[in-house]
Amino acid sequence: MAEQLYINGEWTNASSGKTFENFNPATQQAFSESAAGSADDMKQAIEAAHAARMSWRATPHTERAKYLLKAADVFEAKQPQWAQILIEEGGSIFRKAMFETGKASAILREAASHAVQVGGEVLPSNVPGKTNMVLRQPVGVVGVISPWNFPLLLSMRGVAFALAYGNTVILKPSEETPMGGGTLLAKVFEEVKLPPGVLNVVTCSRDDVEAVGDMMISHPAVKRISFTGSTATGRKLAEKAGTHLKRIALELGGKDPLIVLKDADMDYAVNAAAFSSFFHQGQICMAAERLIVESSIMEPFSEKLAAKAKSLQVGDPGNPETIIGPIINQKQLDKIKTHTDGAIAAGATALCGATHEGLFYHPTVLTNINTNMDVFCEETFGPIAPILSVNDVDEAIEIANNSQYGLSAGILTSDLGKGLDIADQLESGMVHVNDSPLNDEPHLPFGGVKESGMGHHGGKASLEEFTEMRVVSIQRKQRPFPF
Ligand code: NAD
Repeated sequence: MAEQLYINGEWTNASSGKTFENFNPATQQAFSESAAGSADDMKQAIEAAHAARMSWRATPHTERAKYLLKAADVFEAKQPQWAQILIEEGGSIFRKAMFETGKASAILREAASHAVQVGGEVLPSNVPGKTNMVLRQPVGVVGVISPWNFPLLLSMRGVAFALAYGNTVILKPSEETPMGGGTLLAKVFEEVKLPPGVLNVVTCSRDDVEAVGDMMISHPAVKRISFTGSTATGRKLAEKAGTHLKRIALELGGKDPLIVLKDADMDYAVNAAAFSSFFHQGQICMAAERLIVESSIMEPFSEKLAAKAKSLQVGDPGNPETIIGPIINQKQLDKIKTHTDGAIAAGATALCGATHEGLFYHPTVLTNINTNMDVFCEETFGPIAPILSVNDVDEAIEIANNSQYGLSAGILTSDLGKGLDIADQLESGMVHVNDSPLNDEPHLPFGGVKESGMGHHGGKASLEEFTEMRVVSIQRKQRPFPF
């Protein structure tokens, strides 16, 4: 039977009766069939969330936290089962799937700790006898839209914090990962008996996504949107949200630089670069898609990285030894090929890779890169490490900043002071000194600058996204009015 929509605490077919199929990228066999929700189904889910909002908001914060903590325990207990879904549905390698399912529990626990931390302020007044309070209140209904690459983690960071602060939620996962990014969350929250309507999940096919998304953005009951996905989609949704004067948190694409200085420990730098460019086949917004290396170490660094890339096992993502699994779909593979083949045709050298079997693209190291190549400018989202050689630190910083994106960055150096000086100058929402740009912890504010996004998720920053600031004053004694 097809996976259903989860609306008002009940599993239901799409009102049209339509379903859509999803494929396992490793085997190209059908993996699941899910309800193809419509704009009408989204409307129903919004109405359920709207109806549930006052009682959820009135639920004591310690009770709300308990639901989240119980959900974290359920995730942990069933981690291998959920990890299998991420492997088969999204092509996650075993280690990534275990990491992601583990992170889902961590996010739930972090969010639970924030349910009890919604503070406010008491401010003075010029009016005699008045006390001013600045309070935080839940916004009401929050819409969460998530992508396929870390479907569970990225859905969870929107859902868990929004629930913790007393909002109700409608989640629309990617059509590539309707289970890992959607149905799975509903199943866990159903198991912990979250009240009906507090979390609703509407899956839909690519054919209906625009209409379903438009309903979420335009419906007056939805007060905030949390979007994670590509810059192109985010820009479209931001325009629509602007028309409705609706706030949207945008976590978008990246083209993250990894700067490698000549004083970096060579083996550490090679391991950091391989992890940054090849983890989850490079399909991560924070992946190092631009390696910027001081010229004196260019040759040994690129040769060692190529040797490491060649040693990484490509194949069955369910095998714990595998490091490189499949690319999510043919469209994404075609983009990787276009970027890589285009660079090679324009003079780049592939030290390894640049080949594929089916959707399995081999980790690729490219040298003789120039800054105009698509592989160095546009988000590739594949296991490609294009390396550019620079003369000095100033040139490295200039090139790193010469991008429309600004999500995360890494600087590999043994001189931490120099690393901090460089971090100061990088146009990026997150910078990691002596580490990979791939870094995220549930209590840190995650977010980009420039075309990588607006707003933050995680830790205290989520309070800003999912609550409304309000002034309430008390006039303790009668005041004089001017007339
Ligand atoms: P995408 O933009 O194609 O889709 C993202 C989500 O938006 C999906 O759920 C999709 O169904 C939905 N969507 C698409 N068109 C829509 C519309 N018209 N109305 C409403 N919803 C719509 O992105 P993707 O291919 O799923 O994910 C990859 C992209 O996400 C990459 O660019 C990556 O960098 C980015 N990403 C960013 C972060 C971050 O935190 N900054 C994290 C992961 C991925």
